[in-house]
Amino acid sequence: MNQNQSTITRRTFVRTSAAALVVTAAHPQLLPAAEAPASNKMIGLQIGVVSFVDEGVEQTLDILQERGAVNTIFLTTFTYGRGLAGRQIPGQPFPDHGKQESDEKTFHGGNYATPHPEFYKNTVLKQTRAPDHGGLDIVAAVLPAARKRGLKLFCSIEDVFRGDVPGVREVAEVDLQGHKTGTLCLFHPDVRAFWTGLAADLCKSYDIDGILFFNERNGPLLNALGASHAQRIASASVTCFCEHHQKAARAAGISLERAREGYTKLDQFVQAALKDQRPSDGYFVEFWRLLVEYPEIIAWDRLFDEGKHQVLAEVHATVKAARANLRVGFHIEHVNSFNPIFRATRRYEDLAKKADFLKVVVYNNCGGERYANFIRNAASTVFRDVPRDELLRFNNHLLNYGDEAGLNELATAGLSPDYVARETKRALDGVRGRCLILPGIDIGIPTGRNSRKATLDDTFAATKAALAAGAQGVIFSRKYSEMRLANLEAAGKAVRQFGK
Ligand SMILES: [Zn+2]
Repeated sequence: MNQNQSTITRRTFVRTSAAALVVTAAHPQLLPAAEAPASNKMIGLQIGVVSFVDEGVEQTLDILQERGAVNTIFLTTFTYGRGLAGRQIPGQPFPDHGKQESDEKTFHGGNYATPHPEFYKNTVLKQTRAPDHGGLDIVAAVLPAARKRGLKLFCSIEDVFRGDVPGVREVAEVDLQGHKTGTLCLFHPDVRAFWTGLAADLCKSYDIDGILFFNERNGPLLNALGASHAQRIASASVTCFCEHHQKAARAAGISLERAREGYTKLDQFVQAALKDQRPSDGYFVEFWRLLVEYPEIIAWDRLFDEGKHQVLAEVHATVKAARANLRVGFHIEHVNSFNPIFRATRRYEDLAKKADFLKVVVYNNCGGERYANFIRNAASTVFRDVPRDELLRFNNHLLNYGDEAGLNELATAGLSPDYVARETKRALDGVRGRCLILPGIDIGIPTGRNSRKATLDDTFAATKAALAAGAQGVIFSRKYSEMRLANLEAAGKAVRQFGK
């Protein structure tokens, strides 16, 4: 680190917290220094290709180590989504580094490493090479620089596709109306072969430390109700009713026709609710009656989960077969925190059998806005008879949340560091030591115009909460290209104080 950077760093520290200064003065080794490891824990950061292209590999790694105390890079290697890749998303202010120009027109996505054809023999998804940066192979470009510094490097791969990728239409999900969608059916043999092929390719072609796999897709029940933070209620277009799903359903003794009928009735229930047409027995009773009369609704939702978890297990086995010391992690999406019905479909203990680590989303700043969205959606259909603020308080009890803001203040307040601590603790208790828990820490995840923007103290407190709760590390999320450096530095400061 040069003298100038060091001065800026310390000045910011003084401004941020007087208490921290006292700690720093008493323990000079806590000053940001590249010489000693800042933490014994795994301190990860998610970063996409464009940041290295815009800002340079060595310069970027300098910043991550010095400011963020990062020792593990989660390099977005495969996705067509902008949550993990690309510059700042359109409509949001650029952070104080990187190119200040939208890549909306040039962003494409795909595989940012080099796909080796022998790994994709059993899938129609053969042409996924990302064209965004010419012939650049980002893993080959970053890995040697990371190794030289003693940094670990994981490839992040995400199940977000585009409908125009060759082969996608052939292996896509089929919705309730019989239409092909742009998402991959996880029961399609070519899709399963694609994920294991990609994992094998990355693990055998590069000397990486492992894979972090993202799949945020929900089953038909949650999608029908819009019962996540993603605001869409899509009861008419739930999936999947393709031939491979039919085959899996037959094997499990579930009737496709009954499932289709159940989801059609659920769609009618949702549409009537949105028009304020109250069933004579009330919304919740009518919903529950549907589940009683059509247990196939739950069974079909469970089938989706089985498909998703089968792919996780296959990716895990593939990575371990490539090299036994490679590690596999799964991103556990935000809805797992907000929605008790979703929570009931997951056991941390079971997930731990397929993973070496779980990245549990505890994004608390954007969490306020997202949780409020979830409550509003739940209160639009199944819980339409319950005043929204009461529903929020009731749900807080179910989830063991502490003293969080009321519904109208949630977006501007965000969720608290106590939320981060509680969700970290729950995950640690759930896996019972069978795998590592690395909470995903929100650094600059975009929120609405009037929603909370995290202060430096907020980011410090969230990072501290996760580490102090006993997490074996943290992963700064979602992507470096949306993080302000001062917030990254505040997170790094918490690591240096509480990450031993
Ligand atoms: Zn299917």
